[in-house]
Amino acid sequence: MKMHRVLVQVGSFRDRKNAEKCWQRLQQAGKLAWIETVEILPPTIRSNQSPARIVVDAGHGGKDPGAVGHTGIKEKDINLAIAHRLKGCLIDHGYRVVMTREGDSFKAPAARAAEAHRVGAQFFISIHANAHQNRQANGVETLYNPAQNTKTLAETLVRAVAEAVGIFNRGAKPREDLAVLRKAGVPALIVETAFISNPEEERLLVAAEEQEKIARAIARVVDDYCARL
Ligand SMILES: [Zn+2]
Repeated sequence: MKMHRVLVQVGSFRDRKNAEKCWQRLQQAGKLAWIETVEILPPTIRSNQSPARIVVDAGHGGKDPGAVGHTGIKEKDINLAIAHRLKGCLIDHGYRVVMTREGDSFKAPAARAAEAHRVGAQFFISIHANAHQNRQANGVETLYNPAQNTKTLAETLVRAVAEAVGIFNRGAKPREDLAVLRKAGVPALIVETAFISNPEEERLLVAAEEQEKIARAIARVVDDYCARL
C-alpha cells in the first residue's frame, strides 16, 4: 500500500493545538504526517500583491499661494504640511504614497491628476483649505465627482475630520467642474480642511497637533476604503 504523506502547517501557537489534533487523527488513520511551523504575515500585508498606492496632492504651490489668512499664512503651506503628515500616516498603514509635490512648487491641476494614472494609484486625495469673504464661514467639507461612486466615502471623510478636530461639518459636495477630480481616472476626493479666512480656524490649521489629527482622520478613512477594494 502506498503511504500518503501529510503536511500540517501551523502559523501560531493557537493553531498548533489544532494541528496536533489533526496530526493524531492522521496517525490513527495510518497516515504519515508531520507538523511544520510557517511564518504568517500580519493581515495588513498581502503577500501576493504589492501595497496599494495613494496619490496625495497638496493643493496649490509655487506661484499659486491659494487663499491667504489674516496673519499672512498661505494655504499652499498648510496644504503641504498636512499632506506630508498624511503621507506619514498612510505609510504607517502600509501604503505606498506618491506626492504630487514634495515642496513649494507649482503644478497644473490636470498634471496632478495625471499622476494618479502614471503610478496606477488606487486613490487620489487632494488637500486644501477653504476661504470666504465672510470671516465667520467655518467648517470642513469634501468635494467629490458625481460621476464616481464616492459620495458615501466623501460623507464619511468629512464626518471623520469634523469629529477629529471638533469643527462644523459642511458636508460632501458634488463638483463636476474640477479638473483634479475629473481627470484623476481613479476614485478622487478633495478635502477642504477648514477656513483659513476664519481667524479661529486659521489658528487651528497652523497647529501641528491639529494638522496631525486631520491627517490621521483622513488616513483612517482612506485605509478603510482601500482595504475593501
Ligand atoms: Zn485651495
